[in-house]
Amino acid sequence: MPVKSKSRAKTGKKAPRRTGGGQRNAAAAARGNGASRDLLARLKDGPVVCAEGYVFELERRGYLQAGAFVPEVLFEHPEVVAQLHLDFVHAGSDVTQALTYYVHREKLRVIGREKDLAPMNRAALGIAKRVARRTGTLFAGDLCNTNIYDPADSKALREVERIFDEQVGWAAEAGVDYFVAETLGWTGEALLALQAIQRHSKVPVVVTFAMHQEELTRDGHTPAEACQRLEAAGADVVGLNCHRGPRTMLPLLKQIRAAVKCHVAGLPVPYRTHPGQPSFMSLRDPCCGNRMAFPDGLDPFMATRSEIFDFGREAYADGIRYLGVCCGAGPHHIRALAESLGRHPPASRYSKDMSKHAFFGSDKMIRKIQTDYRDKA
Ligand SMILES: [Zn+2]
Repeated sequence: MPVKSKSRAKTGKKAPRRTGGGQRNAAAAARGNGASRDLLARLKDGPVVCAEGYVFELERRGYLQAGAFVPEVLFEHPEVVAQLHLDFVHAGSDVTQALTYYVHREKLRVIGREKDLAPMNRAALGIAKRVARRTGTLFAGDLCNTNIYDPADSKALREVERIFDEQVGWAAEAGVDYFVAETLGWTGEALLALQAIQRHSKVPVVVTFAMHQEELTRDGHTPAEACQRLEAAGADVVGLNCHRGPRTMLPLLKQIRAAVKCHVAGLPVPYRTHPGQPSFMSLRDPCCGNRMAFPDGLDPFMATRSEIFDFGREAYADGIRYLGVCCGAGPHHIRALAESLGRHPPASRYSKDMSKHAFFGSDKMIRKIQTDYRDKA
């Protein structure tokens, strides 16, 4: 795939209109104040970029363990979490999402740290709130899959409700601007998350499903049907996050867009999933005996910045306004996504400019002895 130039990112024909809202948001992010804290107002004004995938990036940096994927780093190195929030904002995220993913009772029970539940949630919320208020980004609370939801087990259902109630309570207490309930595989579990939020808070709610290999939730609904149910129950934004890369998520996002009236969210993983292996857990690496690439052998499947740029363009053209990248995302992906939407976040100051490259540059200072050697470089 050809690499896009900086100029295309700025002046491509199909780029959405650079709205005043977008400029205000970017400017506010740079100066740290002034932007609206109302998610729905921002969505009315233009796209909203939300960086996700914190646990994957922190695992890559050596601060948490692949497998359980619990962000124990919140206690051990809070400064690393704060810096990652800042890196994503610098790259164009309009949102600082609290790192409460997998900081729920069930996950902490699995790793033997249930007693840390409340302080770990409060730590994540405190770190994110400080970054959000300093940068003028939206402060989002976060709920996720509990991994114990079972529609046939009433005791498990009560425990799921308890898990959501607890996390919603701490996030509401921290004053989140809106809630995200993400990476949900069951429509029923998503409804329980939404209801818990509605019990304790009046702020907007984004609900995103994670689709595995089948194009059905685990309780048998198409993504469009599942999103319709969540919209009917009062969710403000519905859509998909995680598990699927751009290529296998976009067709489903189009179906959802056609099925609901509310705003739609799309936050793929930055991996080259394809119809034969549509989820990142199903990717098999042909170089190494076709072994499972998830979770720490996914590097050869990484999407380039230009692929994420193209995803942003196409998704926005299809009417998807809440956009981001999930597990595997680095700040370079978030910058590419922001630029695909006509944004110029602070990190864009350093977006690629090959004119001064030692071999491929066009600047008159680049010597002929170098440019003549280009084809052998
Ligand atoms: Zn993810």
